[in-house]
Amino acid sequence: MSATINLWKALLNKPPSLVGSANSYLVSVEGEINMDVQPKKRPDSTVVLIPQPINGQGIAVLLVPDELTRQLSLNNSVLAAGTHILCHASHICWNSLRLWVARTDSARETQYEPHTHGKEMFCARTRSRLIPNEPIVICPGTLTDPCGMIYKKSAWLDIKCHHCGFDPNQIAWSPPQKGQSNINELTQLAE
Ligand SMILES: [Zn+2]
Repeated sequence: MSATINLWKALLNKPPSLVGSANSYLVSVEGEINMDVQPKKRPDSTVVLIPQPINGQGIAVLLVPDELTRQLSLNNSVLAAGTHILCHASHICWNSLRLWVARTDSARETQYEPHTHGKEMFCARTRSRLIPNEPIVICPGTLTDPCGMIYKKSAWLDIKCHHCGFDPNQIAWSPPQKGQSNINELTQLAE
């Protein structure tokens, strides 16, 4: 299974852009995003964002230092200092900076190895027996259902997994377009 956790950023009135999918980021209020290479020497007034799956609860962790308590919001709720779990499509605001984290799943192509994938396995679509070393595709599943069904590569066909509903043709998640984020900001102002 193959899930990528992507970080997106935008400054106010600018279109969002993909930052990447690194292990850990330092974020400054100016919108500078750097790799968090020396965790013991974090500059003051930066937040740390660590993309990683968390036991079905979320896809990333956000660390807000004491001096930034109540400066940021997560999905339009003001954040206290401390550790916060981010879910798919979570939206962080910090002055003019906007951040989103999102998970993208993709099917993994590999070869059938009985040691790894189990002996006496059958293709989830054709029900025919898998032969060692033949090309297979493993379904990544969805946010709520990690699937892992095995298909012969020739039978994967880039169509929906009948077990979990994962659709390889689905367009990957991207941040809401401007109209939508303006609505979010208006909602926030109204609160
Ligand atoms: Zn599936």
